[in-house]
Amino acid sequence: MKTPRATERSLLSMVGLAGSGAAIGFLFGYAGWGAAMGLLLFASLQLRQLLRLQRWLGSRDMSVPEGFGAWQPVFDALERRRKLDRQRRKRLLHALEAFRDAARALPDGLIAIDEDNQIHWFNKSAKRLLGLRYPADVDQRLDHLVRAPAFVRWLSEGRFDDPLIDQPAPQDERVRLLYRLIAYRPGLRMLIVRDVSNLMRLEQVRRDFVANVSHELRTPLTVISGYLEAIEPEELNEFAPLFLEMRQQSRRMSHIVEDLLTLSRLESQSAPRDEPAAICPMLERIHRDAEALSQGQHQIRLTCEATLDIVGSGKDLHSAFSNLVVNAVRYTPTGGRIDLHYGLHAEGTAFSVIDTGQGIAAQHIPRLTERFYRVSNSRSRDSGGTGLGLAIVKHVLSAHGARLEIESTLGKGSTFRCIFPASRLVPGAMP
Ligand code: ADP
Repeated sequence: MKTPRATERSLLSMVGLAGSGAAIGFLFGYAGWGAAMGLLLFASLQLRQLLRLQRWLGSRDMSVPEGFGAWQPVFDALERRRKLDRQRRKRLLHALEAFRDAARALPDGLIAIDEDNQIHWFNKSAKRLLGLRYPADVDQRLDHLVRAPAFVRWLSEGRFDDPLIDQPAPQDERVRLLYRLIAYRPGLRMLIVRDVSNLMRLEQVRRDFVANVSHELRTPLTVISGYLEAIEPEELNEFAPLFLEMRQQSRRMSHIVEDLLTLSRLESQSAPRDEPAAICPMLERIHRDAEALSQGQHQIRLTCEATLDIVGSGKDLHSAFSNLVVNAVRYTPTGGRIDLHYGLHAEGTAFSVIDTGQGIAAQHIPRLTERFYRVSNSRSRDSGGTGLGLAIVKHVLSAHGARLEIESTLGKGSTFRCIFPASRLVPGAMP
């Protein structure tokens, strides 16, 4: 309602000024000139308002100038908009401050870096955990400030799915860090740094405990097994079946202890030895052992097509491969076929064990490499399994930068494939 009234008032004042000018001009015989002077006065008043508005828009002055005529609603509308803007800006600032406070209070270090690893921003915990200095280190390259080779390599590979765990903090080796990288805007990445010292200590306690218990059990078990092996069951008459059961169980316990000790050794060694392991001769030995274990019950075939050897620990690779082959023999019924194949793969090379055995239901596959996980407890025990074989395979492969792929169809058979990256391969002798 205000706008038409102001416009009317403005029109009235224009008409009034023109009329008064005309009346004064009429007295002097120049009515037309008088009206023109009146209109000119009106125009200059409008111009003055326009200039005031322009000056006010350019200034930081918050109070809107008084308007005149049709200008008043314009000034009022502008004032309302400015107020709204001010409130919106305040809210935004509040949200920004709340976010900054939250980022500051986080116990995890946050560092925003670009594709060249240049630091854009970091929080307080990042200062504490990595020893960064504010503002001196803003715009510096993170890989120039944190120089641990494993960290620099991991950062350059941009492994977003793969956190880097158990790294020493640059300031204090005893503090163990976990790094995780997240891409959050094109060209920008967030590095999250977490202190995992307590977790690593607990993990060490667990590892030491398992290793110590296994060591402690080894000696008494060796003595018991020794006596049990020395006694002839025929001498025991009706106790012979009991005795044979004791002998079988003591052998099983010895195997479990040996496997636990192997796992402890694999977990505590940081990297396997860097020696090329001749794969084809190793597979020939494993093939012969498998035939001996099968005793002619299976058709076992070996094809060695790749002439590439694997850099790492031959002993550990032998242990991993033979675990897979022994499983194939154990879980394939009499008359089944087992194919052992070493050949080229898109990523490097692959060793596959393909059997026509009982197969594994899909829901078990993701858990097979967990310690003591068995699809069927009784079958595994009857066949002398420890439940640790695939856990050993997984550890050996990950120490060699390799991975295990499992495909299986219940009732038809399984394929266990070890895939080795090209970086681990060297030319070997002809198969
Ligand atoms: P185990 O000593 O019991 O064989 P592993 O860790 O070697 O322990 O294997 C875990 C489980 O995976 C086994 O108990 C078995 O149920 C299943 N498994 C392993 N290999 C095969 C295979 N080739 N065919 C069918 N099942 C298998």
